[in-house]
Amino acid sequence: MEKGAAGIYQHVFGPVPSRRLGVSLGLDLVPAKTCTLDCLYCEVGRTTRQTVERFRPGTTEIVLSELAAVLPDWEHRLDYVTLAGSGEPTLNEEIGRIIAGVRSLTDVPTAVLTNGTLLNRPEVREALLEADLVLPSLDTARPETFGRLNRPHPDLEIEELIEGLVRFSRAFRGDLWLEILLVAGFNDGEEELAALKDAVGRIRPDRVQLNTVYRPPAYRAAGPLSREALDRAASFFGPRAEVVAGFSGGGPSGEIDGLGPRVLAMLARRPCTRDDVAAALGLTAERASYELSVLEKSGRVRTEKHDRNCFFRQVG
Ligand code: SF4
Repeated sequence: MEKGAAGIYQHVFGPVPSRRLGVSLGLDLVPAKTCTLDCLYCEVGRTTRQTVERFRPGTTEIVLSELAAVLPDWEHRLDYVTLAGSGEPTLNEEIGRIIAGVRSLTDVPTAVLTNGTLLNRPEVREALLEADLVLPSLDTARPETFGRLNRPHPDLEIEELIEGLVRFSRAFRGDLWLEILLVAGFNDGEEELAALKDAVGRIRPDRVQLNTVYRPPAYRAAGPLSREALDRAASFFGPRAEVVAGFSGGGPSGEIDGLGPRVLAMLARRPCTRDDVAAALGLTAERASYELSVLEKSGRVRTEKHDRNCFFRQVG
């Protein structure tokens, strides 16, 4: 079993608070930060390895053995086991094997967070068919906005991405929730939304989830929309659309030992608010504040303001 310096597993993280998935245990399938895109709003940070070549990190057995070790403590509190992490998980050639491995270990539903860029490949669609829930993202249907906002690998075309989503949606028997992340001045104009609505009509997801720049972004140019603007966009997309802003799921309850390392493990993946930490670890707001202030005083955590919210970020 491979463990980090603070006794934290390397490939299993959380449980993390999720605006869409409630309480979910994450599996990190690619090294940070490996992605096909380099989105302005990315909360993981800037892409350091941009590629469209799938690869085998050689971590499948470790991922599954870490999950098997964590499940006895958390299984009854989880809404999902989520394949995601520090980049695009479908770049891992063994994602299909990992989904099968998760299903053999637990009845907790399996979710996959993906940017959808590789779904135009039959082998990637095939690999995700056994998941219970797939959450692809699509922020634009226009090539120039795709370039400015998602900063794709040069081999990627937005029309191929949409076609891949259409094909996957036809074949997939689980739930498909399409996320559209709206960034002020980039993809929130009338023409943008009309083109996106047309693409959504072709893809036919079970839900359309509208989001905005909630956490500190990789690039300063990415700013959020107001709640009112998100609500207007949701009305435009129709009855399957909803706004997912801020964490609203209920966290697990009960005392948890070793809170400091668990809080740090959460913050190592992405910046979180005090309420994120409280919800994920089943703490009162006061207890979460206390743990965060201890970590801040020790220099292991720093605060960062974004859109009127205070986020805590791991230092180093
Ligand atoms: S937001 Fe997702 S798709 Fe975009 S750069 Fe970050 S990890 Fe990649």
